[in-house]
Amino acid sequence: MTTAPSEAPFTQQLIRWRHHLHQTPELGFDEHHTSNYIASALNALGWTVHRGIGGTGLVANLQVGQGTGVIGLRAEMDALAINEAAPGRAYASTTVGRMHACGHDGHMTMVLGAAQLLAERRDFDGTVRCIFQPAEEHGRGARAMMADGLFERFPVDEIYGVHNMPGLPAGHFATRVGGIMGSEDNFVITITGRGTHAARPHMGVDPIVVAAEIVLALQTIVSRNISPGEPAVISCTELFTDGIRNAIPSQVVIKGDTRSYAPHTQALLERRMREVCEGIARTHGAQATLAYTHEFAPTVNWPQCVPTSVAAAQAVVGADRTDANVQPMMISEDFGAFLQVVPGAFAFIGNGDTGPGSTPLHNAQYDFNDALLALGARYFAEIVRIRLPSNPAPASAAAGKGLHTINQR
Ligand SMILES: [Zn+2]
Ligand SMILES: [Zn+2]
Repeated sequence: MTTAPSEAPFTQQLIRWRHHLHQTPELGFDEHHTSNYIASALNALGWTVHRGIGGTGLVANLQVGQGTGVIGLRAEMDALAINEAAPGRAYASTTVGRMHACGHDGHMTMVLGAAQLLAERRDFDGTVRCIFQPAEEHGRGARAMMADGLFERFPVDEIYGVHNMPGLPAGHFATRVGGIMGSEDNFVITITGRGTHAARPHMGVDPIVVAAEIVLALQTIVSRNISPGEPAVISCTELFTDGIRNAIPSQVVIKGDTRSYAPHTQALLERRMREVCEGIARTHGAQATLAYTHEFAPTVNWPQCVPTSVAAAQAVVGADRTDANVQPMMISEDFGAFLQVVPGAFAFIGNGDTGPGSTPLHNAQYDFNDALLALGARYFAEIVRIRLPSNPAPASAAAGKGLHTINQR
């Protein structure tokens, strides 16, 4: 019989991987060391690794048996431009101004752990692909891999991903059908008036007054144009002028960010924002332009895949630690771009609701909770067992002799 690695050495291996990755953070599309490290770990586990997909991205394949089903397990490799502030942390970042402050070191390790469990147990029938994407934080890596032919070269039937979540109890899983994380769009509104002496406003067109009206009116889009049941956020986050204390400026720039779950809401936000900006500017004899860019797709879980995520979580941590209908979050996740193309589901794993695990993501003291590593690895392996069940067969399979590995394309 194939046997599981005993828990202690397995967990120790996971912690070694995670701490090494934590010490060597790299920014999006610059994950060269990370990609090399992951590739050599996967090679050592007997997976077939394909490099350079969307830059530093990689795909590792393992086929067992003759099954035609294919499951993708995804992790993200990038870190943040944050200076780690954790005195005494033995495995702190060795690069000033770079830090795994979003736990992607932990996510990579959970998928590596699943790769080890699956390679050792071989208790599935079909193909598993571990997909390590670059540049999640910028919302560019998933699209870069797909533009490089990810799913044409390495098709998957379904894809699954996990993000740790400070504030949720450690080791609890949470997911939901439909939108689980928001889209992110960014905007830049440029208002052009006519600068003049601060004491002679009637000689110019004051773009600050126009901007102030626009900032307030934008909030009526969420309250008056979007259905009350549809989540949406418009936040103006930066305001610049070219004025000085005693001169009314000629230009104001407003920057900001919107979030939503549904593509029709996203489209409505953009259309109404443009109408509001242009209309108010025209009223005052100024001009306004809106540049609106799509940064992250919403992460919308496919209804047919969520039961697999829930069943896998329940198998690993129990039904009482699995929330199948979690409140969606307005933060964004590049995994949403994959879900626009292939079915799949995204879940949260609690990083802790008290103590160090509750330190927020992107905080300079944040750390991924090592207690989650084995749970996450087993969660991913369980998804594979559920979706690619092996036929319980006789002696040869039990001895592991009826199974073989075929390298995928
Ligand atoms: Zn992040
Ligand atoms: Zn993240």
